[in-house]
Amino acid sequence: MVGSTEYLDLSSPLESGLHQEGRRMTPQRKKILRLFEHIGPGIHLSAEEVHAKLAKSNDRISLATIYRTLRLLVQMGFLNELELREGGHRFELLSHEKPDHHHLICVRCGRTEEFESIQVLQTGKMAADKLGFKLIESTLNVRAICPKCI
Ligand SMILES: [Zn+2]
Ligand SMILES: [Zn+2]
Repeated sequence: MVGSTEYLDLSSPLESGLHQEGRRMTPQRKKILRLFEHIGPGIHLSAEEVHAKLAKSNDRISLATIYRTLRLLVQMGFLNELELREGGHRFELLSHEKPDHHHLICVRCGRTEEFESIQVLQTGKMAADKLGFKLIESTLNVRAICPKCI
């Protein structure tokens, strides 16, 4: 895999995250992380969707808390955040199997599909090498409009 560094070495994300700067795994953080672990990698949820899913299993956490917790889980290295210029945010489990995957994102409904591209990885690596940068990751987020929204 291209772009693997100690920064992305999340062989034990739960443990490394737990000891990071005294950030504790509170029950709420655990609940939200469990939800993502349960649905698995490759699923991209908005804060509202996380909120709705938790409400279904009777976990009442306010949307504001969910937003804050999602951000924190991103900082702690558990989740990946996709940011749309249109203001939407989606979150997914950081995955070891697919550390450098790319996204096709509908700017209208937020539908997010993943794809892989050796070319993007190679281009990113070449650009970094050429300028002496240490590569962390090469990902491409493509803003588009899905067939339903066209
Ligand atoms: Zn993804
Ligand atoms: Zn759409």
